[in-house]
Amino acid sequence: MSDLLIKGNAILDERIIENALIRCEDGRISSVEEFSPKHLHEKILDYTGRFVSPGFVDIHVHGAAGADYMDGTEEAVRTSNIAHAKRGTTSIFPTTTTGSFKQLDDMVRACESVQSAWTPSDGARVAGIHFYGPYFAKDKVGVHSREGRRDPVREEYEYFLSKPIIKIATCASELPGALEFFDFAKANGCFITCGHSNACWSELEAAHDHGMRHVDHFWCAMSSVSSLRARFGTPMEAGMEQFVLYNETMSTEVIADGIHLSDDLLRFAYKMIGPRRLGLVTDANRAMDAPPGKYRFGSKDDGTWVFSDGKSVKGGDGSLASSMHGMDRMVKTMARSIGRNLPDVIRMASLTPAELAGVSTEVGSIEVGKQADLVILSHDLDVEQVIIGGQLL
Ligand SMILES: [Zn+2]
Repeated sequence: MSDLLIKGNAILDERIIENALIRCEDGRISSVEEFSPKHLHEKILDYTGRFVSPGFVDIHVHGAAGADYMDGTEEAVRTSNIAHAKRGTTSIFPTTTTGSFKQLDDMVRACESVQSAWTPSDGARVAGIHFYGPYFAKDKVGVHSREGRRDPVREEYEYFLSKPIIKIATCASELPGALEFFDFAKANGCFITCGHSNACWSELEAAHDHGMRHVDHFWCAMSSVSSLRARFGTPMEAGMEQFVLYNETMSTEVIADGIHLSDDLLRFAYKMIGPRRLGLVTDANRAMDAPPGKYRFGSKDDGTWVFSDGKSVKGGDGSLASSMHGMDRMVKTMARSIGRNLPDVIRMASLTPAELAGVSTEVGSIEVGKQADLVILSHDLDVEQVIIGGQLL
């Protein structure tokens, strides 16, 4: 494998080294230092004036370029991973939705095959799978197919969560069997999250006791004081928002496409939760980098219909149906919202999700020994080049 020497403003955890020189050998970062004249005789990829960021890590993503992971084919996995790599994502966690056992199984097998045979031409590396659907609360299914939703089924989740590729496991905390699901997920080393849920404080506390530590897409498809009032009446109850803000052991993620959440809410989340407990996700579906039109969310065979106008995707009832933008867009929006604190913004798109998903010894930051997964960003944070495993895409 050819070695690379890259010059640019390197975004490290908590600081930027201007005119840094990053050496990549055998697919890994072997040194990070300040540029000096002694390097002038070496062959350098010169990105002076641009940023060198760690490759982005997306822990919640459904597809892109016309493909949804739930299509269950290797071609769909590769198509989406290539599209996301062009937007700076180098480690990806294909995310399941509601569907049949067979659809889930086909999806997982397709991801396993693509992961084991990966080459740089396959785009972002499958770092694991996020087992997200089908265990959603009935009143928080959102745009996902209702027919494919169910309460936790022990034989089913034991089969899936035993697979090493599944690194993240979601279940609505209030469902019957949720605590047993969390126990099993924890025993199998998964990062455990609560999503598509209308859980109240006491249900979240019980879930937390069983290993739940994260809430999917903050403010989207989750309980609120008003949704719990509809469930329980008065006195009004605290829900997922309060639980995350209150507990430092909890983390969450935002869809920072500028369409789901205002800049004010993004700034609020950053200030209150902080860049070590708050990650950026794309939650992108197959309408990303695809022409406006009608698409299935989830499996191409029986997913629900959603509609893209080229800027956002909506379900038949007009509600937002996940996003259609890549991680580059989430990074730009967050930078705008919080006043461009780039080490923090980039951390939320790389090291924080890598830490949460348990892959930060390998990826997520520019550190000696880690995989040479890098993104070259212009001053305006446009992706100019992507490097995965020390190879230019
Ligand atoms: Zn989603």
